[in-house]
Amino acid sequence: MVGQRMSEKTLKKIVAFSETNMSVSVGIKILVPFFVVMLIVVASLSYFVINKISEKIEQMEVRRAVAVLNSTIQSVEEERETLVTYASLLGDSVEIEQALKNGDKRKLYEILVDSKQVSRQQKIIIFDRNGQILVQVANSPKIHEDAAPLIKKGLAGITTSTLAVSENGLEIYAITPVHSSSGVNYRGPVLLLDRHIGEKELDIIKKREGVEITLILDRTVVASTLEPALAFQVLRDITVSSQGNKLVPTRIVWNDMDYINVWRTIGSRGLISIMVPNDDLIAIKQGISMDIVRTTLLAMLLVFLCATLIAKVLVRPLQTMMRITKAITQGDFTQKIEVITRDEFGELGNGINFMAERIKERLDQAEHLATVDGLTGLYNHRFFQQRIAQEIQRAERTGSALSLIILDIDYFKHYNDNLGHPAGDKVLQVIAKLLAGSIRSVDIAARYGGEEFAVILVNTGALDAYDVGERIRLAVEGYPFVGREGQPNGKVTVSLGIASYPDNASNKDDLIKLADDALYKAKYISKNKVVLYYADFEDC
Ligand code: GH3
Ligand code: MG
Ligand code: MG
Repeated sequence: MVGQRMSEKTLKKIVAFSETNMSVSVGIKILVPFFVVMLIVVASLSYFVINKISEKIEQMEVRRAVAVLNSTIQSVEEERETLVTYASLLGDSVEIEQALKNGDKRKLYEILVDSKQVSRQQKIIIFDRNGQILVQVANSPKIHEDAAPLIKKGLAGITTSTLAVSENGLEIYAITPVHSSSGVNYRGPVLLLDRHIGEKELDIIKKREGVEITLILDRTVVASTLEPALAFQVLRDITVSSQGNKLVPTRIVWNDMDYINVWRTIGSRGLISIMVPNDDLIAIKQGISMDIVRTTLLAMLLVFLCATLIAKVLVRPLQTMMRITKAITQGDFTQKIEVITRDEFGELGNGINFMAERIKERLDQAEHLATVDGLTGLYNHRFFQQRIAQEIQRAERTGSALSLIILDIDYFKHYNDNLGHPAGDKVLQVIAKLLAGSIRSVDIAARYGGEEFAVILVNTGALDAYDVGERIRLAVEGYPFVGREGQPNGKVTVSLGIASYPDNASNKDDLIKLADDALYKAKYISKNKVVLYYADFEDC
């Protein structure tokens, strides 16, 4: 009973297992984390690379802007050198020397006017040895404060120049002694030239260099190639990011245009800003970023394919094993896992195959124990009951006959009492063998009780069954059992009762009862006898 209950429980478990559907495949469990990790790695790598490239491009942008600033300054410097050369030439003019000697201011004025027209200067002024204006040709007599030190240098006989941002542009001042060959520590009249670079000139430079120029004086834009609002933005940008005289480039985005803004100071209060359009570098940057995004997407696709492949390689053998394990749990032991690889999957497959074989062996063993009698090796009573029911059904189906012999050893108690139970058991075993040897392989011999046996003779009528019974009876009677001479009739014998389907009974219980009745009759008449049941039995 206990064994039966346990097996029901186990069966339930097995059924539950065989009906389980995998909710999450191992493949998904491997694939998803792998894909997520790779996604993070690839994305952060791309982010890092894009950032690094952006940094490098920005450095390139600044370097280029500084180079443009220097080149712009250089062109102003060239202008300055030209002015200095021109000033020296004018200072050496014999005409001016002559006019000075004669004190002919009118003549001097005429010379300066001519000269201004030729060289397009803003101002030409001659100072006397005391630094007082002697003659001047200028729209305005005002001289930039940065030019004042120049006059002193000129009076000391030095030819030099300076740059300064004025209220309406950039001024290049050049000073030279009139008659510079006059010796050391010269204190004589000097010539001051002012070359003005206003917005018009800035526009020319802008066109030549491809940059935007803004001139700032005391935090005020004095000239710019930019529209006023953007020029103001430049000023604000410089004011905010300026760190003393340190050049701190900034980026300005204006109307979808991107600029790098670099600047440097000019003179005591002035500042020049150069804005370099940045669009080509931005285009390069965008191109590289797009390349990286495309490569990243491709890499991710490859990662996805790899992950899927890995998952498939891992999961496919597992799925096969799942399928076969399910089949085994459903009692199909013919299925075997084909072991191809010599890895863990191979080991597992071998293990499952071995386990299935062992289960099959155990089940066969259990079935044998459940159906076979331990002492005689014949079928047991339980199996007999099942089979006789099945055989009657079959006979009913096929319209054939079936006979049942029930057999009991005569005076067996006596035998046991005389020779002991082990000797009695031996008799039981021998009779079982004699029984098995007297019937066909299709017939079924079983141990019905203690010393009672039953034989189902399929497709056999009563008369044929009688012959079989007689054969059994004679076989037992003739067998030289140990101590048989001590039995009441001098030998070991059996009595047999026979009933047949459908002649005597139509169902299992009646058939057994009638065979038993026939056996009783045999015992009653004389023992060592075969008795066929017949209808008017009771009357005998
Ligand atoms: P009868 O001729 O009327 O059959 O007399 P009997 O002595 O054989 O009486 P019965 O059929 O009642 O036999 C019962 C005896 O069978 C009792 C017991 O000693 C013996 N027996 C039953 N089972 C076994 C067994 O497994 N081994 C042995 N050795 N003896 C058994
Ligand atoms: Mg008995
Ligand atoms: Mg008996």
